[in-house]
Amino acid sequence: MQPHYDLLIVGGGVLGAFHAYHALQKGLRVAILEKDQLPQGSSVQNFGQIVPSGMDAKWQLYGRKSLEIYKSIQANVDISLRQNGSVYIASDEEEMTLLEELATINKANDYPSQLLTANDCLQRYEGLRADYCRGGLFFPEEITLEPRVALHRILAFLTEQKGLHYFPQTLAIGIDSSATGCRVVASDKRVFQADQVLVCNGYEFQTLFPEIYREGDLQAVKLQMILLEQQPAQRIPGSILTGLSIRRYESFQECPSYQSIKAKEDPDSLSKKWSVHILFKQTADGAIILGDSHEYADIFDKESLRIEIKTAINEYMMEEATKIFNLQTWNIRETWVGMYTQCKNSDVFQRKIDDRIHLLTGIGGKGMTGSAGFSYENINHILGK
Ligand SMILES: Cc1cc2nc3c(=O)[nH]c(=O)nc-3n(C[C@H](O)[C@H](O)[C@H](O)COP(=O)(O)OP(=O)(O)OC[C@H]3O[C@@H](n4cnc5c(N)ncnc54)[C@H](O)[C@@H]3O)c2cc1C
Repeated sequence: MQPHYDLLIVGGGVLGAFHAYHALQKGLRVAILEKDQLPQGSSVQNFGQIVPSGMDAKWQLYGRKSLEIYKSIQANVDISLRQNGSVYIASDEEEMTLLEELATINKANDYPSQLLTANDCLQRYEGLRADYCRGGLFFPEEITLEPRVALHRILAFLTEQKGLHYFPQTLAIGIDSSATGCRVVASDKRVFQADQVLVCNGYEFQTLFPEIYREGDLQAVKLQMILLEQQPAQRIPGSILTGLSIRRYESFQECPSYQSIKAKEDPDSLSKKWSVHILFKQTADGAIILGDSHEYADIFDKESLRIEIKTAINEYMMEEATKIFNLQTWNIRETWVGMYTQCKNSDVFQRKIDDRIHLLTGIGGKGMTGSAGFSYENINHILGK
């Protein structure tokens, strides 16, 4: 017979893990049920860029709280955090205008950022092409993580040092509640009991409450990603975001010139067709994560996105990337497809089945940045405080 938990979380991705973290900080008995041995979902498929600078005003605050939380965990245990800052590199005068406007907004928000001349950027970022760079905006507080290990280390830290009960290879297939608590049934017939259950299922919608997700406006997003071989000697610190990200990320939508600049863009460009923007993140061993593209479908029609990697998209991303950096090697070590879910009309998908069962997903492309800070606040709603 399993113990009775205060909070049981289905799904050990970053959203589940950080709700567990905050509940454990409050001294609660917490369990996570994870269908895989270690999570393999969006939270390990990403760049590991923790970039509050790209978020809208609301999520920038969550992201800034996340920075504090990640740094405090890193002070206890190595979760692969590096504080090398993020930089946005402008490729033309329009993008430079947006950087200048965002710098002014940051000043008003008390979020440190520093405008860089083209020369500053070329000095700091080895291999950056002079014919691409017009200038940059640097965020010194921001961090990177190694996506393949960071979440797994956070879960190990929670288990070993904070008392989390982590149940791997445990697929939750049924949840019900009564006046005395919730019962969660796993596919191997184990039964778990808890006061509250939070389902952070990522992009898995078939198993629990499919009818509720069907009523929402959730979309599945497929992303293509590339890992370039280790650069023998070239080191490019932090998160590198480039012109197309300046034209895409939410934070820039608050800039006075944003609408007029967007209105001039070519609607038929390949970057628009595949929603490509070019981001670089060098891993601790010197390889470079390069991405990404975005293709969209209804969550119950994910199959229409198909499993294959489109060569044309990867070739386009490689071609654009070579216009930005001269790298020592462009050899590809791996390519992969990532997936996340997002809402068409809101920033996150949250539903209550009743006072004890809560659903949470659809955090989109901001989960590694926003989840730790968002769950700091949201855990009180889940616990009814
Ligand atoms: C390619 C890519 C690049 C990205 N880059 C960044 C980035 O650099 N910065 C950033 O901030 N964000 C980034 N994101 C977004 C971020 O990764 C996601 O927002 C975040 O990981 C979502 O976390 P999650 O916990 O909701 O989902 P997931 O990580 O998918 O976790 C859900 C978990 O629930 C488990 N599960 C589901 N159903 C059950 C069940 N019934 N029983 C048991 N377990 C179950 C799954 O196995 C999975 O482990 C990126 C995403 C992708 C795909």
